[in-house]
Amino acid sequence: MNSSNLVWGAPDDTKLENTTPGKLIYESLQKKTQSEIILVDTHTGEEVSRKKFLSSVTKLTEILRKLGISKEETIGIATPNTWRFLVPAVASLLIGSTCTSMNPSAHKDDIKHYLNLSKPKILFVSCSVLDKVRELKPGLGFLKYLVILDGGNAKDGELIFDELMSRELECKTLEINADCSVNALILYSSGTTGLSKGVVLTQTNMLNCMKYCRHPNFVDVHENTIMLGILPQFHVFGLMLSLQCIWTAKKTVYMQKFNPENFLKAIQSHKVTFLPLVPPILIFLAKSPLVDNYDISSISNVLCGAAPLGREMEVAAFERLKVKIRQTYGLSETTGAVAIISPSCSKPGSVGRVVLGHHAKIIDTKTGKILGRNENGEICFKGPCVMKGYVNNVEETNKTLDQDGYLHTGDVGYFDDEGYLYVLDRIKELIKYKAFQVPPAQLEDILTKHPGVKDAAVLGKPDERSGELPTAFIVRHPNVQVTEQELIDYVAERVSVEKQLHGGVIFKDELPRTTSGKVLKKELKKLL
Ligand code: AMP
Repeated sequence: MNSSNLVWGAPDDTKLENTTPGKLIYESLQKKTQSEIILVDTHTGEEVSRKKFLSSVTKLTEILRKLGISKEETIGIATPNTWRFLVPAVASLLIGSTCTSMNPSAHKDDIKHYLNLSKPKILFVSCSVLDKVRELKPGLGFLKYLVILDGGNAKDGELIFDELMSRELECKTLEINADCSVNALILYSSGTTGLSKGVVLTQTNMLNCMKYCRHPNFVDVHENTIMLGILPQFHVFGLMLSLQCIWTAKKTVYMQKFNPENFLKAIQSHKVTFLPLVPPILIFLAKSPLVDNYDISSISNVLCGAAPLGREMEVAAFERLKVKIRQTYGLSETTGAVAIISPSCSKPGSVGRVVLGHHAKIIDTKTGKILGRNENGEICFKGPCVMKGYVNNVEETNKTLDQDGYLHTGDVGYFDDEGYLYVLDRIKELIKYKAFQVPPAQLEDILTKHPGVKDAAVLGKPDERSGELPTAFIVRHPNVQVTEQELIDYVAERVSVEKQLHGGVIFKDELPRTTSGKVLKKELKKLL
């Protein structure tokens, strides 16, 4: 291996050893001012003090232990953004159990798939997810308890979060998991191919992410940070930053959904300083005339990631907001960011330098040879934030993590002479619609089950606002009449909104295939 071509992040100088994420968070909650409001829920209007959050976490940890949740068990959460999400998430860290979070608007079949991968014993859900889970529960023997996070009417055997929290409980000194090697999270990602898989992240992975999140040269979440929690908590980007803020920030203001006026109002009225975003929201900030009606001058830190952001849009947003826009790049499989633009650097179009304690290589996509600076190839990362593997899936794990421990991202790009990464393309089978993962294999599977479809391939059609629009190339069965709208509706009945065929359907006589039968998606991409 030509090691001079490896690209190194700064050495880890944080001296955070012999601790766990749960311990750090818990001790910080105990030490700081108890009356301070640390969590705001714009949806319900609730304001939660550090004292209330600390006592909720302590109580829930004890209750979960009494229900038999141990290090071997998994706790599930499915809810739109709420401060309540963080209570089981932190409790899970304290116990040392595994926490799995999933998209609350996922289709019932996806939720079933996620639950069957992670097998949680207890599931915390919002009312909006309850009906889907109630329907699935009889078929999920491992799922013993359902807790409703936001009120509603509990049926037999279901628990209500606020009622649990109002129970009298003697809390002795809390025992906190001290073993950083335990599994901490299972998140869902389709990786480089196929259907969603369960990404297993350990407490060590999380601890290393927390190190660079508070580091002034990287994410820089500090004691005066007020974050707007608009990124979904179930996704690695929103989840890790939510936990980070509990540890090192002043306050987080949560929003369930992006609504232009409410979003700007929340920034103005809570004097938000830190805005982690996905590209569609940044494009809104760069372009919408509404922005001029609000005072959003409190913002000093804008971080944009989870999907590609063009250089022009980055510059346009900077010119509009007069605040530096920092790109960041990462995956669920790397516990979030592995490259980030530092607060003091200006490199529009780049996603930044390798985060501390990690290194990267760029390899030729055909030969696997390590390439030099300014040469394009597959981006691979190695370091303490790289996942342990996919749950119960050795084959996919071995395809993604090579023998030297590098994670093959399925993304294509290059490092410049100064070590800044540019992401140009994706060789993996993944569409990102508004930064949400859309696995083409899932849509192809659904489409080929339609009686009128002989062959199907799904690709992302470039779109300025949404990034990519899932688009189907379809070969019809001879003598069967099927229209574009029928297929759009057919898919829409079986998937959540993000995964629908927003780019429509293109009918073809046949799909281009290699001699081994694989669809030549590169050829189809040219048609988009
Ligand atoms: P997820 O696991 O949902 O976070 O998806 C990870 C994928 O999102 C990466 O492999 C990339 O394809 C894409 N991605 C994340 N951040 C960026 C970025 N800054 N620029 C381009 N693509 C990105």
